[in-house]
Amino acid sequence: TAPDTAFTITRKTDGISAAERAHVLANPGFGRAFTDHMAVVTYTEGRGWHSPEILPRQPLLLDPAASVLHYAQEIFEGMKAYRAPDGRILLFRPEANARRFRKSAERMAMADLPEDLFLEAVTQLVSIDSDWVPAPDVGTLYIRPFMIATEAALGVKPAAEFKFIVIACAAGDYFSADSGLVSVWVEENSVRASRGGTGTAKCGGNYAASLNAQMEGKAHGCHQVLFLDALERRWLEEMGGMNVMMVFEDGTLLTPPLASGTILHGITRDSLLTLARDRGLTVREEPYAIDQLYADATAGRLKEVFACGTAAVVTPIGAFKSTRGECTIGDGKTAGPITSSLRQTLCDLQFGRTADPHDWVKVV
Ligand code: PMP
Repeated sequence: TAPDTAFTITRKTDGISAAERAHVLANPGFGRAFTDHMAVVTYTEGRGWHSPEILPRQPLLLDPAASVLHYAQEIFEGMKAYRAPDGRILLFRPEANARRFRKSAERMAMADLPEDLFLEAVTQLVSIDSDWVPAPDVGTLYIRPFMIATEAALGVKPAAEFKFIVIACAAGDYFSADSGLVSVWVEENSVRASRGGTGTAKCGGNYAASLNAQMEGKAHGCHQVLFLDALERRWLEEMGGMNVMMVFEDGTLLTPPLASGTILHGITRDSLLTLARDRGLTVREEPYAIDQLYADATAGRLKEVFACGTAAVVTPIGAFKSTRGECTIGDGKTAGPITSSLRQTLCDLQFGRTADPHDWVKVV
């Protein structure tokens, strides 16, 4: 039977005042200024998805034996709501998040969540908390849909009970780098994903496993970490929470391919490749070695490198550091022209400032 998508709504009655909210929204940071409500849908084996609710945001009640706490059956998504100049609230390719969520669930042996239910939960939450969407010059509303295994059972087996929850927070810039450029540590010890592993699933465990490298990068003064392939520690894969792209002197755009199954299928990545092709750039999805990056950057062939993702949008990279030393990209201080113009084109679309030929933008 089709799941129930009629959400019951319980409004928060003791929320912060409009003035307090305006204060928070003026400088939201990233990932701390949470909205008033959350969407919750429950799955029970035999019954399917049921009881869709919008509730005041509140702590979860979980049995200490819930599978998520022991075997990490958890997946999530990251997406944003944007405020257009005319005040409408827009989502960017939300069906792509719903589809990726299903793929992640399949990999982690979790319940299949229909895309309609995913989209309805997101839309309901954004609608009720629409006052939390910042002004376009300040930021966006970052939306975090996730699923956890709630069954109380210590046997190692797929759970029979899950909760799908959506929360949201106001979001300013993800990075607080002064120049807008970030520096990246090339991780040569830890890997993020291996063939046959969970690299293409957006599961919490992937991120837990990336944190020690993040700390190492930070100790070397870097904002982010670039992971290499697990077999040879040679080929660029991606960063802890974003994909990576290179621009060469002949105008070619290159990014690592998805075929290895170790890289997250970024929606920003896919969108930028399309936008680059639209403007006639040569796009190559090909393996690229870290030695080559150092050689190309030193020889001046590699002009621009940037990270891309929902949170990071398009963030130019000024330098890489590793045990082999430091290499600067371009002048290390200013974003390159292709990086800047792709970022502008993407943001114009996301904020509803330009025509949308690919039908990517959905009005809430
Ligand atoms: N790689 C990883 C590991 C990520 O966590 C993310 C963020 N979801 C991305 C890439 C970028 O994906 P997207 O463009 O869909 O946000």
